[in-house]
Amino acid sequence: MVPMEQLLPDTLIWLQELFWDWLIGLQGLLLAANKRVSIGYLGSATLVALLWFYWRHNWPIGHTFKQLFGRHIWWSQSARLDYTLVLVNQAVMLLLRPFLVGKLLIATAIFYAMTDWLVPVAWSWSGLTWLVPIVYTLVLFLLDDASRYWLHRLMHRWPVLWAFHRLHHSAKTLTPFTVLRTHPVEAVLFGLRGALVQGLATGTFVYLFGNKVSLLSVLGANGLVFLFNLLGANLRHSHVPLSYGGRVEKWLLSPAQHQLHHSQDIAHYDKNLGVVLAIWDRWGGTWLAYEPQISLQFGVCDQYDQHENLMQAYWQPLQQSGQAAKQIIHRWVSARQSG
Ligand SMILES: [Zn+2]
Ligand SMILES: [Zn+2]
Repeated sequence: MVPMEQLLPDTLIWLQELFWDWLIGLQGLLLAANKRVSIGYLGSATLVALLWFYWRHNWPIGHTFKQLFGRHIWWSQSARLDYTLVLVNQAVMLLLRPFLVGKLLIATAIFYAMTDWLVPVAWSWSGLTWLVPIVYTLVLFLLDDASRYWLHRLMHRWPVLWAFHRLHHSAKTLTPFTVLRTHPVEAVLFGLRGALVQGLATGTFVYLFGNKVSLLSVLGANGLVFLFNLLGANLRHSHVPLSYGGRVEKWLLSPAQHQLHHSQDIAHYDKNLGVVLAIWDRWGGTWLAYEPQISLQFGVCDQYDQHENLMQAYWQPLQQSGQAAKQIIHRWVSARQSG
């Protein structure tokens, strides 16, 4: 047994390390090019909003600033819960990370499985090596975008998962930080999805093309994701109804279309589930065009309470998901008994 006088300093050192990792994680969130809410992207989204309001309504800069940064949006009860979740989820994910499988492990496993089980690839790519990073970056982007759509769709369709995703939809005001208003269960599911698709793509590409594989990146982020974030992805969670117009929105989802996704109106439920490309929504029958004349109310209106504090935000989804699972099991047992 470890003596008490040794246990206490060890625990303190662990807590201290955890605290520093937490701070470094938060710093990364605000500075890294692969994080949507980093300061650079928040700045570029502000610029896009200023230009859009000027072009659309001829609003002067001062007026737009007031509209964009109103206290009733950024310091609402809903927004304050977003910030609390960002801070606490960061710590929770630090504790969970050692138990989660990463993309490197999956990529390595897939690479070795292919090398062991399949015929070694000995093609000569000498003339086309320049093409490999372009195809790899594109495949990674497409797999990532498609898998986000399908997991998001599952989270809306399955009551056991909707209980967790409902927390994201319970936001009544939208700020860029609402993207991180998620229950840790949802964060884990999306993390595993990312590890799986990135691991799958990387393992397969390394098997096929060896050391020719590299990512076309900007500051360490996938070039296409960098572009998406730079061009105002943060406006998806905002009160700026930036629409690309019907023709473009059939291919690229606009911020206004994601705002429809957050609408309380039943006509907008389960629509526009994608992130960047609109093709998945069109294939899945969930695509909806933005209509400029409508005014939206954000949030959920169902029989459950709203999430107003961290305890409710963490606990209610677990309760609701448990109830949904119980109902499914009950129905299954009754169906077997009557059958
Ligand atoms: Zn959703
Ligand atoms: Zn959202």
